[in-house]
Amino acid sequence: MTSITQLNRALAKVQTQLEKLNFYTEAIAAVDVYLIPVSTAYGYKWDGKRGFICIPRISLSKLKEKFFSGYPYASLADVVRHEYGHAVADVFSKQVKTKEYKAAFKSTYSSKVSYDYDPELFVSEYAATSSAEDFCETFMYYVKHMGKIPERFKTPAIKEKWSFIKKLSATI
Ligand SMILES: [Zn+2]
Repeated sequence: MTSITQLNRALAKVQTQLEKLNFYTEAIAAVDVYLIPVSTAYGYKWDGKRGFICIPRISLSKLKEKFFSGYPYASLADVVRHEYGHAVADVFSKQVKTKEYKAAFKSTYSSKVSYDYDPELFVSEYAATSSAEDFCETFMYYVKHMGKIPERFKTPAIKEKWSFIKKLSATI
């Protein structure tokens, strides 16, 4: 169960990190975050006018993570970082719909093509499921590590994605 106190604590932590990394712009600060009763998944959603982040109080995918192996544990702060990745991609869609994005992530943000997970190419298994999730998983680790790439991610493919995110922070 996620309480509003836990969510607010995770939000405060992640928003401070986003601010230091130059991602917490006015438009990102305006993205609402809701704690909802129950859901199959966390999510960044669109109401037709603007996007918002939903964090379920009880998430069925979180239970899956807990009870089935193969789903690595993600902290609430990690989930929040990931969802802010979707918000950044949405708010700064112009910078994401670029050839630089395509060069780093090998497809467009909206591409639904999934790949076999390869740790040389992706930061996580979930990152291999689509280009958008690849961006958000890489973004999550970028924020978590304050822009400093961990040793295990120092592969040519991941370094390229990492530096796309770094460059993006300089243009917004
Ligand atoms: Zn996602």
